[in-house]
Order: sequence, then C-alpha cells, then structure tokens
Amino acid sequence: MNYQNITIAGSGVLGYQIAFQVAFHGFKVTVYDINDEVLEKAKAKFTTMSEAFKNDLNATQKQIDQTALNLSYTSDLKEAVKEADLLIESVPENPKIKIGFYEQLAKVAPEKTIFATNSSTLLPSDFAEATGRPAKFLALHFANSIWKHNTAEIMGHPGTDPKVFEDVVAFAKAIGMLALPLNKEQPGYIINSMLVPFFNSATDLLIKEVADPETIDKTWMKATGSPTGPFGMLDVVGITTLYNVSKMTAERTKDPVKIKTVEYLKENFIDKNKLGVSTGEGFYKY
Ligand code: NAD
Repeated sequence: MNYQNITIAGSGVLGYQIAFQVAFHGFKVTVYDINDEVLEKAKAKFTTMSEAFKNDLNATQKQIDQTALNLSYTSDLKEAVKEADLLIESVPENPKIKIGFYEQLAKVAPEKTIFATNSSTLLPSDFAEATGRPAKFLALHFANSIWKHNTAEIMGHPGTDPKVFEDVVAFAKAIGMLALPLNKEQPGYIINSMLVPFFNSATDLLIKEVADPETIDKTWMKATGSPTGPFGMLDVVGITTLYNVSKMTAERTKDPVKIKTVEYLKENFIDKNKLGVSTGEGFYKY
C-alpha cells in the first residue's frame, strides 16, 4: 500500500470524522462536499474533533497542528480527486444519491484512484457498475466516534481485485483502525448482522411483557460479563434509530409485535423527547 493522498467525499457526521482520523495519521486529505457553505460547516467541526482527540487519545497540540495542515477542502470534484490514491465515499445513505455521485466521479477520477464506500446498509455490488472501475471498488465501513470505536470492516464484492482489498486492509491499519476483513458480501457487515437481531430479541421480550428493560439488561450483563445490556446500548445508539428501523420492519413484515413496538416507542420515547443519552433520558436517566 503506497497511498499518500486521500479524498473524503461527504463531510457530514461520519465523513468529517474519517477525514480528521486519516489526516491525524499523516495522510494528505482533501474533503469534498456539494458546496462551500457545507464545507464551512465541516471546517467548524475541527475544534470539537481536536478536543475529542486530546481528551480521549492524549493527542498533542503538535499532532493537532499537523492534522490541520494535512486537511484541505474543495467543492470541485475534479480538483478533489486529481491526485487521489483512495477516495472514501461517505455521502447520504440513499442509493440514488450514491449512484449519481459515482457516475459523476467516474468521469473525473484518475485511473489509479481506488473507491471505497462507507455505506452501512447497502452492498458494494449495488454500486460496482456505476463506479466504472468495479475491480478497484469495495466497502470500508467505520463506526460512529471512529477515534474511539476504531473498527474498520472491509468488504469487497465478487469483482474486487484481491490486491486492492489487501491494500485497503493495510491502509485501515495505517490510520489506527482495527481492520476487520470480511470474506464475502453481507448486508450489515459483521457488527450489524449481530446487533440487529440482538436488539430485536430484547425489544420483543419487552413488548411481549416477558420482563422489563432493567431485568433484561441485568440478565445479559451478569450472565455474559458484558458491562452493558441491550437497552443500555440502545440509549447510546439513540431511540430514534431503533424507532426508524422498527417502523421499516413493521411495514415490511406486518408483524403484530413490531407494530406494537413502534406504537410503544412513539408514545413513551419519541413524543416525550426521551431519545437516549443525547437527551439525558431514554430507557435510563443520564
Ligand atoms: P450525513 O448526512 O451526516 O452526511 C452526508 C454528507 O454528504 C453531507 O455533508 C452532504 O452535504 C453530503 N452530500 C450529499 N450529496 C452529496 C454528493 N452528491 N456528493 C458529495 N457529498 C454529498 O451522513 P452520515 O451519517 O455521515 O452518513 C454518510 C454515510 O456514512 C452513509 O452511507 C452512512 O450509512 C454511513 N455511516 C454512517 C454512520 C453514522 O453513525 N452516522 C456510521 C457508519 C457509516
């Protein structure tokens, strides 16, 4: 892996965290977004990110200053990728937007540029064709609060070049991530393939009135040695996400337990702005 110049497309929640993480680890990073106004908002997040790196990782002022020097910003896509060895796409989780972005990108990116998507729920094979370079395309999936929850799931599609895959695994390690290679495509990668059924089982127990959240969490924590149970974790993830996912499942399956889950969450949490740790109360008070 001899990457030097990395472009991050999309400077939202995850995109900016990735940009900062990569720049912190010594790579030259170009942040691309749709217009300069959005990019100004991204730049404004530098101070908050610096504080997080100082508090959580003991980053020095010298490292932060170097990170700032490694970052540049542009809303011109051609300019953003002109020297890119790797582009990490973190645009909204909407297939139309992503396909539109890749079609535009394919026209202006140099041949050498590898494309990686940070998509959480879509598969690389959904976009492989639109990239115009399927062999040089794969998924590199980060978790929120990337500097602390430093997992990087690397997932190719059947046409990804194994050398490209290997290089992206090496890159993930070079930016301080725990690289987690997947051998095949899997919706939800490793983490969400396990977490989603886990959260579903816990909420089903609650909605079927088998036990209350405290008892369910206590059972999980004592029996497995885990410091948090499913409802404690859901408070961190955010009840809004749980609500949105439950709603989609209820609409798709018409399962009465899921329909009841949606009503329960709306009445007891969404309407009362009890959205988890972020609002000071969810299943627990903070
Ligand atoms: P976000 O809405 O915070 O940010 C998206 C950014 O993309 C915005 O700055 C927007 O202006 C920009 N954008 C929109 N259209 C664009 C285009 N055509 N070209 C370039 N930029 C464009 O979203 P997010 O939460 O950062 O999620 C981005 C991706 O990361 C999604 O695929 C999501 O699944 C994935 N992801 C999110 C999380 C999370 O916790 N938020 C975790 C892991 C992965």
